[in-house]
Amino acid sequence: MGLSEIQARIAKAEAEAGREADSVKLIAVSKVQPAERVEAVLREGHRLFGENYVQEAQGKWPAWREEFPGCEVHMIGPLQSNKAKLAVELFEAIHTLDRPSLGKKLANLAQARGASPDLFIQVNTGCEPQKAGVLPDDLDAFVADMRGKDLPVVGLMCIPPESEDPAPHFAMLAEMAGRNGLDGLSMGMSSDFEKAIAAGATHVRVGSAIFGARDYS
Ligand SMILES: *Cc1c(COP(=O)(O)O)cnc(C)c1O
Repeated sequence: MGLSEIQARIAKAEAEAGREADSVKLIAVSKVQPAERVEAVLREGHRLFGENYVQEAQGKWPAWREEFPGCEVHMIGPLQSNKAKLAVELFEAIHTLDRPSLGKKLANLAQARGASPDLFIQVNTGCEPQKAGVLPDDLDAFVADMRGKDLPVVGLMCIPPESEDPAPHFAMLAEMAGRNGLDGLSMGMSSDFEKAIAAGATHVRVGSAIFGARDYS
């Protein structure tokens, strides 16, 4: 599909939802993609990317940041506490704050560094046992807890259950962000980003629709 087609579809979805042009940020999810595909998108001028694995990002991004100034890379995959230190050095934002112990670790790192990436709290809107994220019933207390640690919580993130209509999950995330005074909504992937934009997404995370299918072999 490619970058420009996705940008056009985002613009159309913004207009159809009565939202301002460029109110939605496109995170190009470059995990596992061959370097030449990512470099093509960098050469087209795109500068906002998402990665799932700390070590993979560490291997790829320092050189690209030098070659293509202005890059911003967001962590969108599960974050192990023992990788948190590296993560706060590598990423401008982390979308997967999902448990108190990680919040504590990030707060300690923020104190030591005098800076923190922007943080999104991942919510397990479908209450799926195998999926990461704070349960909806626990969210308000968790937001308050993280704010009490002076962490820069800017929004919420979700990955709806694969087998369900994502729209009710996006609506639930938007409602939870609103009642907690959070502006950021990281929701929507290749298959559903237009629905997410209709529900108020501020950040969509699109991988395969830009770069092509991922090859994990
Ligand atoms: C891989 C991934 C994406 C991108 O998925 P596509 O279906 O390729 O657009 C978005 N969000 C998260 C959390 C991911 O892990």
